[in-house]
Amino acid sequence: MKERIFTPGPTPLPEEVRLEQARQIIHHRTAEFSEIFKQVCEGLKYVFQTKRDVFTFAASGTGAMESTIANLFSSGDKVLVVRGGKFGERWSDIGRSFGLEVIPIDVEWGKVVDPEQIEEKLKEEKNIKAVFTQLVETSTAVVYDIEGISKVVRKTPAILVVDAISGLGAHPLLTDEWRIDVVVAGSQKALMLPPGLSFVSLSEKAWEFTKTSTLPKYYWDFNKAKASLEKGQTPYTPAVSLICALREALRLIEDEKIETVIERHRKLAEATRKAAVAIGLEVFGDPPSNVVTAISLPEGIQDKELRKKLKDDYGVVIAGGQGKLSGKIVRIAHLGWMDKLDIIGVISALEMSLLELGYDLELGRGVKAAEQVLINDKL
Ligand SMILES: *Cc1c(COP(=O)(O)O)cnc(C)c1O
Repeated sequence: MKERIFTPGPTPLPEEVRLEQARQIIHHRTAEFSEIFKQVCEGLKYVFQTKRDVFTFAASGTGAMESTIANLFSSGDKVLVVRGGKFGERWSDIGRSFGLEVIPIDVEWGKVVDPEQIEEKLKEEKNIKAVFTQLVETSTAVVYDIEGISKVVRKTPAILVVDAISGLGAHPLLTDEWRIDVVVAGSQKALMLPPGLSFVSLSEKAWEFTKTSTLPKYYWDFNKAKASLEKGQTPYTPAVSLICALREALRLIEDEKIETVIERHRKLAEATRKAAVAIGLEVFGDPPSNVVTAISLPEGIQDKELRKKLKDDYGVVIAGGQGKLSGKIVRIAHLGWMDKLDIIGVISALEMSLLELGYDLELGRGVKAAEQVLINDKL
């Protein structure tokens, strides 16, 4: 049986990316590596839609989140954190670990923050240094209005820090045009790589914050990363094979064009949602993201049983709920290297598994609904 992965990280790997990692290692202090790394940095700028540097770290996404806090802030700094799910909580946890004064803007899980709420908080509280948010709150499957939030934040001395780890490449994110100060991304999501790399871009306004930050950093020092980047290098040994594979992944994105990649995600997400509704299920989270579709579990269907059946009988791996949504939702990702038939496949497996577990449905209704969205589309 083939295994198919539909989780919001890691995501499936294209052949080009897989093969690249099978190559013999090259040394990182060579002209050969520098050339590859320079190409990667250019490709990242394209995906981030920025003219400024994008730094690459050997770490999962959380590493880049932590590096942002360590490099831009000082103990006691006051920051706002949009807390609408597990990843919003992560910003506040990291901030507090570093001694920041975190003021949460709590959002009901499955809902999104209204930029006006942020505007009010920024007026109410003095000396806010930053606003932290997600692009997509992967745990609740919603997408935040980053453009709207940036309009509010840019009028103040605060910087806007966006965890776009799952959303970059699946939703529009115009880093420079929308004046987003910090964008954080990771490798194992829309970038179609294994876990192990994370990325940070900084606006000029954010870069100024590195000059006053007094939190300790060594491995993560952005100034060292910048000095090395200018020479096509990283300060310490980079994850060479992952960076070589990233060049291939970026080539695929450039060939398809970022706008088309995003449109493909949008379409696959729409097909997944329509299919779920046609099966009689409820889509959780509003507005829903292009990254992942959360589906409320119907009465009588247990999360663990459903996911075990999907995995054991159909080779399909989907995600469960996180935190307080554990056991209440399942999440089907349509992220990264995904196409129309991946969606038809996962919906078919979902229909068969639900029926076998005693849920009342007519086979094929979800598949048909997905087909109706996807037919005639040159994805
Ligand atoms: C996946 C993800 C992360 C990072 O997780 P890591 O396991 O550290 O890579 C952070 N934020 C969001 C929104 C994510 O989807």
